[in-house]
Amino acid sequence: MTAEYAVHGTVAVITLNNPPVNGLGLATRRGLTDALTQAHADTAVAAIVITGAGKAFSGGADIKELGQPTALQEPNLLSVILTLEAATKPIIAAVHSVCMGGGLELALGCHYRIAAPGCKVALPEVKLGLLPGAGGTQRLPRALGVEPALNMIVSGEPVNSELLMQVPGQQLFQSMADSPDTLLVQALAFAAEVASLRPLPLVRHLPAQHPQGDAYFQFARNMVGSMAKNFPAPLKCVDAVEAATQRKFDDGMCLERDTFLNLMWTPESRALRHLFMAERLASKVPDVPVNTAQRAINSVAIIGAGTMGGGIAMNFLNAGIPVKMLEMKQEALDRSIATIRKNYEAQVKKGKLKQDKYEQRMALLSTTLSYDDLKDADLVIEAVFEEIGVKEAVFKELDRVLKPGAILASNTSTLDVNQIAAFTQRPQDVLGTHFFSPANVMKLLEVVRGIQTAPDVLATVMALAKRIKKTAVVSGVCDGFIGNRMIEQYGRQAGFLLDEGCTPAQVDAAMEAFGFAMGPFRMSDLAGNDIGWAIRKRRYVEQPNMKYSKTADLLCERGRFGQKTGAGWYDYVPGKRDAIANAEVVKMIEDHRAALGMTPRKISDEEIVQRLVFSLVNEAAHILEEGIANKASDIDVVYIFGYGFPVYRGGPLNYANEVGLFNVVQAMQRFAQNPLDDANFWQPAPLLARLAAEGHTF
Ligand code: NAD
Repeated sequence: MTAEYAVHGTVAVITLNNPPVNGLGLATRRGLTDALTQAHADTAVAAIVITGAGKAFSGGADIKELGQPTALQEPNLLSVILTLEAATKPIIAAVHSVCMGGGLELALGCHYRIAAPGCKVALPEVKLGLLPGAGGTQRLPRALGVEPALNMIVSGEPVNSELLMQVPGQQLFQSMADSPDTLLVQALAFAAEVASLRPLPLVRHLPAQHPQGDAYFQFARNMVGSMAKNFPAPLKCVDAVEAATQRKFDDGMCLERDTFLNLMWTPESRALRHLFMAERLASKVPDVPVNTAQRAINSVAIIGAGTMGGGIAMNFLNAGIPVKMLEMKQEALDRSIATIRKNYEAQVKKGKLKQDKYEQRMALLSTTLSYDDLKDADLVIEAVFEEIGVKEAVFKELDRVLKPGAILASNTSTLDVNQIAAFTQRPQDVLGTHFFSPANVMKLLEVVRGIQTAPDVLATVMALAKRIKKTAVVSGVCDGFIGNRMIEQYGRQAGFLLDEGCTPAQVDAAMEAFGFAMGPFRMSDLAGNDIGWAIRKRRYVEQPNMKYSKTADLLCERGRFGQKTGAGWYDYVPGKRDAIANAEVVKMIEDHRAALGMTPRKISDEEIVQRLVFSLVNEAAHILEEGIANKASDIDVVYIFGYGFPVYRGGPLNYANEVGLFNVVQAMQRFAQNPLDDANFWQPAPLLARLAAEGHTF
């Protein structure tokens, strides 16, 4: 049953029951309208309460239905709400826990609303590039007031029911229950009280007014426009709420509907909806069922308290999990603790962390110089120097001291996780946890599955990632895993662009205009140009036929390693991150070009973007085909959460789908004609070629 029906005295109670959050899919909507019909037919019933079972009143639209024809199938949500409004018996929404999106719009269609304290109330549609499409933009301003309603609609953020109750003049909630436990009893009493009152009040009849409407909406547009640059939906939310103040209710509803349907077709909304699903799908591993038993993780040890070790530790401390750090020398531990303290103290100063929480977190942290102190750890993450010999010594020690069943993880970015696992007698307990720097900030975690990693180890670490608020994606073992393997091709192509005529600033500006947080050269300066240099030196030996631009090597030979040395592709002033163009670097690039006998060519921003993004796409296609990534959407998640790919483009593969894979391959064939570029580079991956030829998407 998606909507349960019961009668208490003279009041019918309809309980939405569609776990986990009572999403308003077709079956639930049918269940609800059937129950309403039953309540009207029942002569003993004088009033109706609608509530939700379990942990929500309703979380709104059923996400599985988004963009599907069933979302519009009758009774659609608009029709359900019209049915509520047309009811001849009073209907009371008893909301608790979560009342969001369509759930709130449903409640706004009822005659009265009673809330439990602590209920999270929101219209989050804007986060999917949409606006509320079932009257939310027209009813919430009437019930709550124009300004607080617009704030909720434009931000999509939840607001607690107690706070909403305090908004002056609000008609959103007529009553507040004492607690979630008493909500139903109090709603029944409320229903009995209002059972005979007529006429039945409707939110649509309330005025939506702002005393300085013109000035206020002008102000709102300026604010929202500057914050939502690449997203059309927030400004459309302003238009719709303004319409609520200027038009008749039904006219406002028409505008809302038209706008909603138009937004559904925008690439930005498609990208946001894709990512919403992609993030949820990332935690699902095809051959590891959701009910796979997990190992208990109640304590964590970290080996190596350097840049990464300290940041990794903070994630677990934040989640209330005790951490023990091991180092070779006490000074290294002291330095790391001081850095962790400094990070937390900055949060306390900004008011983002309470002093007592900070102390609780620090109390969970301990240190040691001895492996014997790690014997009780449930999970150990190694973050020592990136040298296989060092890793070997560490994993042999861990294998010696750890209890059976403990999980052994390596934070390596380039080494072979299978080789590391083979240093132990328990390769099934070993995997990679590739955090991104700064590890306490970046949301992405690549979980590297070794050839022997046990399914329950993988399931445990994926679940743990959620506990520490990371977005985890599973990668197979290969050089660079998903993210860095793709970025290497992107970096190679960026080098060719310099040789052919671009400056670093031109390339960065084009990529930043496309929406990247940082262009490739600023990013390399941030990460350290020496990292790429070390990788290239290895490639020159291992793959001597692979073509590389040598410009980046020349830069490194001058010691310009990036921000950390104050000089890279750009110059940096101490304490600041602004990239300042350097004439000598530009001259170095020109001289190198001349030495190669190349005549510089003017390259358009469009070509820069296509060459760099399609180099990501082609490598991604190889990664998918080899089974290193389980699905295309995982690759998009990696690039959005780990590499600053523009959110509103939905990741490289979603973007390629939008461009059309046929067009992607056509462009690659054009680039392959360029005598200065590496023709092999543009050989489409077999998967990409096949999908393009068949007219399919990733
Ligand atoms: P780091 O040099 O800042 O820190 C390494 C720490 O390990 C040092 O404090 C060192 O004293 C300690 N150490 C070395 N050998 C040890 C041993 N035998 N026992 C105990 N401690 C030992 O390095 P990092 O940048 O934190 O990198 C650590 C690992 O994380 C590497 O494998 C690296 O590839 C990987 N990684 C780094 C980044 C990054 O951006 N820095 C990102 C992802 C992954």
